[in-house]
Amino acid sequence: MKELQKRIEKAKLPEHALKAALKELKRLKSLPVQFPEHSVARNYLETLLDLPWSSSTTDTLDLQAARLTLEADHYGLQPVKKRVLEYLAVCQLTQGLKGPILCLVGAPGVGKTSIGRSVAKTLCRKFHRISLGGVCDQSDIRGHRRTYIGSLPGRIMAGLRTVGVRNPVFLLDEVDKLTRGGVHGDPAAALLEVLDPEQNSSFVDHYVGLPFDLSKILFIATANSVATIPAALLDRMEVLEVQGYTSEEKVEIAVRHLLPKQLKQHGLTPDQLTIPPSTLATIANNYTREAGVRGLERNIGAICRSVAVKVAENRGESGKTTPTVVTETMLGDILGPQKFEHEVSERLTRPGVAVGLAWTGMGGEILFIEASRMPGSGELTLTGQLGDVMKESAQIAFNWLRSNASRYGVQCDVPKETDLHIHFPAGAIGKDGPSAGVAIAVALVSLYSRRCVRSDTAMTGEITLRGLVLPVGGIKEKLLAAQRAGIRHVVLPKRNEKDLVELPVNVKNQLEVSLVSTVEEALTKTFDGGLAPISKL
Ligand code: ADP
Repeated sequence: MKELQKRIEKAKLPEHALKAALKELKRLKSLPVQFPEHSVARNYLETLLDLPWSSSTTDTLDLQAARLTLEADHYGLQPVKKRVLEYLAVCQLTQGLKGPILCLVGAPGVGKTSIGRSVAKTLCRKFHRISLGGVCDQSDIRGHRRTYIGSLPGRIMAGLRTVGVRNPVFLLDEVDKLTRGGVHGDPAAALLEVLDPEQNSSFVDHYVGLPFDLSKILFIATANSVATIPAALLDRMEVLEVQGYTSEEKVEIAVRHLLPKQLKQHGLTPDQLTIPPSTLATIANNYTREAGVRGLERNIGAICRSVAVKVAENRGESGKTTPTVVTETMLGDILGPQKFEHEVSERLTRPGVAVGLAWTGMGGEILFIEASRMPGSGELTLTGQLGDVMKESAQIAFNWLRSNASRYGVQCDVPKETDLHIHFPAGAIGKDGPSAGVAIAVALVSLYSRRCVRSDTAMTGEITLRGLVLPVGGIKEKLLAAQRAGIRHVVLPKRNEKDLVELPVNVKNQLEVSLVSTVEEALTKTFDGGLAPISKL
């Protein structure tokens, strides 16, 4: 009791907290030790004393140093770095860190968490990551009332207790993965209160039961896609997109950051293991297919492990090590057979196949669309675990073709006599959204005209019944995916022209882009020599 008393005196609690602490101490004194309430009261008091009511770190807002740190920690990501610096500059001028909460949105492994960490480093603040994936109960954020045995403070208070200062950088990881509408209240609603600058200066955690000022905390959120972030929450944040990387960028990141990091983690030195850029490129292209660099890092880790065995064994014998240079031919032994191939041209040797471009929280992907017909009773079958919107796109594409078949000299069967089957292979891609419309139409025309689609071409765009091509989202990620998959030519909706501005120059140079506003134009671009009418099948 004496110790607690001393701690209360030392803790520099604000008045309301001091009052509550003294009251709790009085209660504790009156409770016999064997009562369960005793430990509850004691835990509460300790939590109260552990909270950083008044301790904080001093910000060092040196913009020049911040720029250098951001540059040193990350390769590329210029727009994100620029925005972060602007944010810090405003903070420096206004002497405070109030402002919109940054939300970094991008595929896994593109460096969102690590940017958050860098921001904390540049400000010399403590860093704490709160993972919100799967949180379905508002008491996870706001704590349980103390009436329950075993109740705990919410994650925000628990985080503050861990870092021990009131002005840390909190990284709210995966805000898009909050589970909504649970029976125990909506966690997003609780988070709103935490993030709202108007309200968070007196945030009341249910367990603590006293207002705590959260306004000194710098919140940075991350998400894979904005689509699933609750709208009210999104409204409070400024979205900053973190794009995926091209394979050249991945190699640069590997050489500058990933390889040195992995070598250090495995206790190796650059003299013991060298992985030349050409090998890194092979790993990035043939062993991983991702927008970020996490898979690449894992593969480099695997190489380090296998070399570490050799180094450790040799050291036992002679005390000397021979340097290992990993060539492309050695990759098969270390990492196993190549996991991905450029299969585009092979799959496009038959009529009825087209390549679409999909975009998911995991980044862009290419998507094959296969159509085939057979004698039957006029059924349209769609397979590949499609969402409703995608099914509608397929219907629209088919009906557009039926109403326009004669103009192309394509004989589109009366559906009574044949079945049509459209399939979307590769199960790992989420398949909903309207953006495959053009690709489905092209696959169908290819099927009925018995002509192959250009094997180097991929396409995206929504279509209408009249045959107009409407703009779609995620263009940059889709084009990066196309480039990764070895596509040379992409067909995009004309109204997406504005999205091409933010494309990296080397991708622009490698991809030929055709902008179209109608399905007719798209057909001209996707078949070799355009789509001339064919008289008879
Ligand atoms: P995310 O939070 O986006 O899923 P992380 O921030 O955890 O991804 O990044 C995964 C790994 O990739 C980290 O080790 C990070 O350092 C590294 N990384 C990602 N992008 C870059 C980059 N541009 N420069 C250097 N390292 C990077």
